[in-house]
Amino acid sequence: MQESHHIFIQGKWRKGEGGIRKIMNPSSGEVLTEVKEATEEQVDEAVLAARRAFETTNWAENIELRVQMLRELSDKLEESAEEFALLETRNTGKPIRESRLDVSDSITCLRYYADLVANRICWEKEMYDGTISKVVEEPIGVCGLIVPWNFPLLLGIWKLAPALAAGNTVIFKPSEVTPLSFLKLTELIEKSEMPPGVFNLVLGEGRSVGHSLVAHPEVDKISFTGGSATGRRIYQECAKNLKRVSLELGGKSPLLVFDDVDLATAVDWAMFGSFFNQGQVCVASSRILVHQSLYDDFLTHLSARAAQIVIGDPVDETTEMGPLVSEAHRKKVEEYIQIGLTDGARLLSGGQRIPDRSGYYLSPAIFTDVKQDMRIVQEEIFGPVITVQPFKEEIEAIQLANDTPFGLAAGVLSRDLERAERVAGRLRAGTVWINGYHTPHVETPWGGFKQSGIGRELGPQGLAAFTEAKHINRNLQLQPIGWYSNKGVS
Ligand code: NAD
Repeated sequence: MQESHHIFIQGKWRKGEGGIRKIMNPSSGEVLTEVKEATEEQVDEAVLAARRAFETTNWAENIELRVQMLRELSDKLEESAEEFALLETRNTGKPIRESRLDVSDSITCLRYYADLVANRICWEKEMYDGTISKVVEEPIGVCGLIVPWNFPLLLGIWKLAPALAAGNTVIFKPSEVTPLSFLKLTELIEKSEMPPGVFNLVLGEGRSVGHSLVAHPEVDKISFTGGSATGRRIYQECAKNLKRVSLELGGKSPLLVFDDVDLATAVDWAMFGSFFNQGQVCVASSRILVHQSLYDDFLTHLSARAAQIVIGDPVDETTEMGPLVSEAHRKKVEEYIQIGLTDGARLLSGGQRIPDRSGYYLSPAIFTDVKQDMRIVQEEIFGPVITVQPFKEEIEAIQLANDTPFGLAAGVLSRDLERAERVAGRLRAGTVWINGYHTPHVETPWGGFKQSGIGRELGPQGLAAFTEAKHINRNLQLQPIGWYSNKGVS
């Protein structure tokens, strides 16, 4: 990649012909670099390149090539894992230990989808009428992949790996705030044998570049991860020509703490669920529901432990919490803290900027004395701000847990596994962790009930999201059906 070339179309780096954007280091507020973004015309070129590659190369038919490309990419990523982790930390502000996890999960995901398609068996069966039916999974075609800023590499790979494994061609659009790790990944793709046009990268804002991609008639599918409001707009746009669409959206996930847990362990998991990546995680456990017998002690422990979290430069190995991703995002989170106070909730601790730090830092904020209909309980804040509510009965905990428009994830902490399973079964969420939190497992689906999304990523469902099922039924011999009378006309 040349310094000023940030768009990748038809296997070649190109100069973005749109505006210049400063890419920031959120831990210092300094400019890391500048990129030139794409114009709508360049999005059009990228889409047409992907269409050409889909129709004129052997990519869609050649499973071996696809498997080889995914394995090679995972190996190259592994070779430069630390470089990717550092870049991700510099651009997002997430502590380095978290970026390392992201890179390692990305490698696992690439390998998982390579193996999944390599071992895919086509369903075939003799039917009751003596014909043979087979069901094949074909690629959808040209796919637009749009991701947010909180896990730029990992969430990108969650889409890219199954999309390519299934034989699609893609146009990838990272968040305008965090394009660096995918720019670097594109350098790895550039050096591979992937046919030109299979992978294309465009940088730019959602309302211009993102919208052009979503509205483009030659795009067959949009796979989007981001906020629910954006997801709604994209869904409406895709409806115009019935474009295929997957939406991974926001959440307001509860963590239920029952009365039989060890207090310190429960607080440990609550902190991990709530403050990982500064709470900027779609599944963050932003609502903690605690049995009333533990409630007071839980709050005392939680606020004391949260105050000890080591906030600092995310590149530093000892840092446990970094800055929020941008000044604008920190303002939005602070506005929610104000909304909570105005609505009458009690800010038990945190929610402060860190003196003498120029980055976008905010200490973990814990609200109590909240009512279920308050905005800080119902709306996604996407930062280190949580509410803690008491409950008396299991049924009350389930009702409170389910009472938001979202349904992305939930956690249950209890030594009584029978109860935990029973409660998990009644929670309206795409993922429920019992005595744990956060870990995505690449073999299992990820996605949301209710307004948290449509469709699933990861697992076989994540591959199915990038395929069209086709049924081919064959008679072994061509014979007349004899349905209509034949009066001798030949
Ligand atoms: P966002 O919706 O503002 O933006 C996400 C992406 O969409 C960005 O690349 C943006 O440029 C693009 N975009 C914005 N408007 C668009 C439009 N009209 N057309 C096409 N593209 C458009 O979200 P964000 O602030 O970047 O990320 C935070 C949100 O992402 C949170 O709500 C979070 O819950 C959600 N998220 C969900 C998951 C999940 O797996 N469900 C994972 C991570 C983040």
